[in-house]
Amino acid sequence: MTKYEELANLLFADIDKTPEYYEELYPPRQLKEGARVTRFAPSPTGFLHFGNLFTCINAYTTAKNTGGVFYVRVEDTDQKRKVEGAVESMLKSLSVYGVKADEGVVGENEEIGDYGPYYQSKRKEIYQAYAKSLVQQGLAYPCFCTPEELDEIRNAQENEDIKGYYGKYAKCRDLSVEEVKKNIDAGMPWTLRLKSPGDITKKCYFDDVIKGKIEMPENVIDVVLLKADGIPTYHFAHAVDDHLMRTTHVFRGDEWIASVPLHLQLFKVLGFKPVKYAHVAPIMKEENGGKRKLSKRKDPEAAVTYYAEQGYPKDSVNEYVMTIANSNFEDWRRVNKDEPIEKFPYNPKKMSVSGALFDIAKLTDVSKNVICKMTADDVFEQSYEWAKEFNPQLAALYEKDKDYAKAVLNIDRENKKPRKDIAKWSDIPDYISYMYDETFEECYDLTGNATPSLAVDVLEKYKDIVDINDDKDTWFDKIKSICEPCGCTPNVKEFKQNPDAFKGHVGDVSTVIRVALTGRTNTPDLYCITALLGEERVKARIEKAIAHYKEEK
Ligand code: GLU
Repeated sequence: MTKYEELANLLFADIDKTPEYYEELYPPRQLKEGARVTRFAPSPTGFLHFGNLFTCINAYTTAKNTGGVFYVRVEDTDQKRKVEGAVESMLKSLSVYGVKADEGVVGENEEIGDYGPYYQSKRKEIYQAYAKSLVQQGLAYPCFCTPEELDEIRNAQENEDIKGYYGKYAKCRDLSVEEVKKNIDAGMPWTLRLKSPGDITKKCYFDDVIKGKIEMPENVIDVVLLKADGIPTYHFAHAVDDHLMRTTHVFRGDEWIASVPLHLQLFKVLGFKPVKYAHVAPIMKEENGGKRKLSKRKDPEAAVTYYAEQGYPKDSVNEYVMTIANSNFEDWRRVNKDEPIEKFPYNPKKMSVSGALFDIAKLTDVSKNVICKMTADDVFEQSYEWAKEFNPQLAALYEKDKDYAKAVLNIDRENKKPRKDIAKWSDIPDYISYMYDETFEECYDLTGNATPSLAVDVLEKYKDIVDINDDKDTWFDKIKSICEPCGCTPNVKEFKQNPDAFKGHVGDVSTVIRVALTGRTNTPDLYCITALLGEERVKARIEKAIAHYKEEK
């Protein structure tokens, strides 16, 4: 037995499985050429950040577009930071946006697939088998340094370019088996360190899918692979898991880019084929003329739940994510108006190297375009679902008469040029407020040439001729017919040629009626509004407006 084998048996006496065993248990996946295996690997420490969703949708789309596999692995090695219910809430947020794992963790303590367990906390034995094998080959060793000793090293390295456990600082690198045995017998805690084969004068090269070709110095640090409790560090778990789960492309935040030389070295010493990396830059926000990262602390829109609370439809968020993921998405959308988003030839290589800019105005715009294309039934159903959770008053209004609500939502919808008033479901209460007596707020402010005295004239006449059953042409003819008797012209052109000859034109007459009925100067189609409000409400609102303007005159 070599000294390293002896050491391995000493450190991992209980581990009887070998890497070969796991290689066989988790064989390469039988997928077609070019299929990508991607994953989302959250630490269950809180809610889903918009940045996580963004990274995740990119990983997911890459797998789906190539006929590959997307799976979820929970990185719960840090039990102290674990938050109860975080897994469930993250999965729920993902599912809202259509991200459904083919494999892995699909519910709290619920896993599917042949490459599990997918909770890192259940994989301790696997990591230890690989750790044992590294020790056997002289590629890893136990370190007994105390926190105080590590502090001393840090202090001594103040003026060094490279900091960490390496070279002359790596005190435990060459301990003999006897010394190790003595320490273990004395009950000294130990961590397992990589015996880095790195060369300070050499470079490590890799081609990041997003960032392109990168060159960095090789890793020379003997990093910790297993902590004193036998739990792996992120680095070691990443190499073992992404290899055994047969990941091909790792999409993750670019804060990990500095660790790539170490990760590639780990893949090498472990005998694994390296994965491809796609390092996603953080989502940025413009502030005071500069840019900063979207912040969990400062920005409510950083939490994915924000979009559900505000009532952005899932399709809007997905469209928006694609808009900032690939800058050619908008051009594609312009020529493929009705295609499902899945048809877009997404390309991770087109992602921003420096960080996509989050812009709520853009999201609003995208969302208005999405919502204007929906049917009234869709708008009703989705906003009703939203209202039940976030706006009980709106839900109650809907429930009074669902057909009426749908008809209201159908005004200026389901036609060639639908209006784009709604960006999110929380816009609806205001948008439809005048269609319900409970929420109608009178406001008699006029615009254009309309004055209170003209308003009295117009409304007195209109009140007598308005008929809810009129078709649109008749309705409009009637409005035109009261123009002249009120000193206005039905012809806008005529008014413009000779403005002093008239009190106003047909537009002003309509404004008066619109304001009386809705309290607003800008609304969707007034004919539809009038018809839906019904005779009784129309007449009552006109009377009230007349009374108001008479006082104002
Ligand atoms: N658990 C890691 C994190 O949350 C995942 C990084 C990765 O995707 O590899 O940062």
